[in-house]
Amino acid sequence: MMSTEHGVGVRLEGVVHLYHLPEAEVVALRGVDLDVDAGEIVALLGPSGSGKSTVLGLVAGILRPSAGRVLVGPHELNRLGARQVAALRGRTVGVVLQEPARNLLPYSTALDNVEFARAACPRRLRRKLPTAAQLLEVLGLGAVTRQVCGRLSGGEQQRVSIAVAVAAAPALLLADEPTSQLDAASRSAVVELLRDVRERVGSTVMMVTHDPAVAAALPRTVTIRDGRVGAEGHRGEEFAVVGRDGAVQLPPDVLDRFPAGTLLRVVRRGDVVEFRAAEPADPDEAPA
Ligand code: ADP
Ligand code: MG
Repeated sequence: MMSTEHGVGVRLEGVVHLYHLPEAEVVALRGVDLDVDAGEIVALLGPSGSGKSTVLGLVAGILRPSAGRVLVGPHELNRLGARQVAALRGRTVGVVLQEPARNLLPYSTALDNVEFARAACPRRLRRKLPTAAQLLEVLGLGAVTRQVCGRLSGGEQQRVSIAVAVAAAPALLLADEPTSQLDAASRSAVVELLRDVRERVGSTVMMVTHDPAVAAALPRTVTIRDGRVGAEGHRGEEFAVVGRDGAVQLPPDVLDRFPAGTLLRVVRRGDVVEFRAAEPADPDEAPA
């Protein structure tokens, strides 16, 4: 039976994020609007550098938006002080960082890492989850439970990181490319486990992935392109998304036909809206 009383929803409204470098400013997000329901499981897709990790960092409260609002449940993170954000993160949010070693205590064993996380989880939730040893077992780590994490391979550390995040039964689980170093079988085990924790305790899950097979296994995908939400997939169907400012990003296959600068005529017939390219300009008449 699915329960969602534990999960929290996430909302980003007009979120802009700049990174300040000594020489320049990098605009990582340029107006992201996104709603994730409590208990939903969502894949974030998009090319490298499109802003996926920045979205996750903002929702985790690790980064602060330059503009816009970030809500986790009823809490507007951009209005909270650093200490309140840290408390909320500890209580509500589980994060699996992109660099697997950063999620783990390197001198503790895999089992101890998972046990520590589990000990912090309220008992009423803990009872609904597998034991630490079982979590490691379903991720194919039964043979390395007593090894210290610093000695494990990248792929093993990734899976221990997932077990640690799941063991805490967070209301919101954020994972940044947690399957990048895994083979197909381990990737499915991770996806299965994330779906399972969502079924058992109702956690909301947001997961960044490059892997089409992982994304296809999840009911909703959100594609970030050039610092905005470009498209959404729902159960295999792709949709373009209208942004708060009215901007729409065209899917890549459509963009091939309508390169940047193409003039489009918007034709409306009731609910149906069509885009038609204006007649191509006569090259002989191009301005000198
Ligand atoms: P993704 O996770 O989709 O690969 P990121 O969110 O990491 O993308 O990065 C989005 C943009 O912000 C990229 O142009 C990246 O170079 C830049 N960026 C990310 N982190 C930093 C940082 N700490 N300092 C400066 N620029 C950054
Ligand atoms: Mg990233």
